[in-house]
Amino acid sequence: MPVTERNVFAAMAPFRVEPRFVGRVWGWKDLHPWYDRTAKDEPIGEVWLTGDDCAVATGPHAGKTLGEIFAEMPRAMLGENAPSGDSPLLIKVILAREKLSVQVHPDDRLARKYGEPRGKTECWYVLAAEAGAQVAAGLKAGVTMDAVKAGIEGGTLEESLKMLPVHAGDMIYVDAGTVHAIWPGSVLLETQQNCDLTYRMYDYGRGRELHIEKSLEAARLKTKAGKVMAKVLEDRTVLVEGEYFCVERIPVEVSRSSTSLRREDESKAGLAYLFAAEGTGRLASAGFGTVELPARGIVAVPASSPVFAIQDTGGLDLIRITPRWPEKTE
Ligand SMILES: [Zn+2]
Repeated sequence: MPVTERNVFAAMAPFRVEPRFVGRVWGWKDLHPWYDRTAKDEPIGEVWLTGDDCAVATGPHAGKTLGEIFAEMPRAMLGENAPSGDSPLLIKVILAREKLSVQVHPDDRLARKYGEPRGKTECWYVLAAEAGAQVAAGLKAGVTMDAVKAGIEGGTLEESLKMLPVHAGDMIYVDAGTVHAIWPGSVLLETQQNCDLTYRMYDYGRGRELHIEKSLEAARLKTKAGKVMAKVLEDRTVLVEGEYFCVERIPVEVSRSSTSLRREDESKAGLAYLFAAEGTGRLASAGFGTVELPARGIVAVPASSPVFAIQDTGGLDLIRITPRWPEKTE
């Protein structure tokens, strides 16, 4: 039999991904108690959990980057039904001490016009929030594009933003084209399409590059952005199910000691990421032994993973993130 990716990587065990701590002017100097990390010089604003440059931390592919894993083993990672082989989702923890820029991301169509494979729709799951914390998701009703332009020029764009108060456990959907801004006071788990395009409209005079023309091309006066009501099902809570991703909370009962995490229909199984919003867990299987899930860490579960159980090893609050692909419209 010829050696193909399919028969060599018939089964691929889940693996832990090493987070990357990314410097941002608006970030934190000391990440405790979220991460055991202190910034050396520039503050850290983003913890990239599934970036293309994040290193695989466990298993036979340890040391490779996540981007290399998708390039070498797209089907083992994503399954048979994925329309493309590259990494679909970028998951981050956002730690803001100051306001982020007011920004917008392009949709798929506009991103392709500028040579990128996809646009960026994202969502924010609130891990913690101080009293009074807010984010901006969209423009106020009645705001025109001329008002947006005038707001950029006059430094008054904030007045046009729709502010949302946030509390721990909230989910906010931010589709491409939504003018948005993250403000300090909350810690967010951000799930987004794996795309590099951010168009800054306004940045409080911090000297970073602005992309005013492109941001006006990408911005929409009305979008679907806003808070999403959680859907409580028997075996999980769906926090958001969008065109590009699904984010769910999976209860792991200590009394049962473990919960099996494969989907009902094995043939449709795709990639999943497991994130410990609180506490720690352990994946265990006859097929691969154990993989530890640290607090605020990520384990990637390839489409071809053997069946496994997950154990709560201390206060685990488990979030599962899975990619989706929109129906083809072209
Ligand atoms: Zn954004």
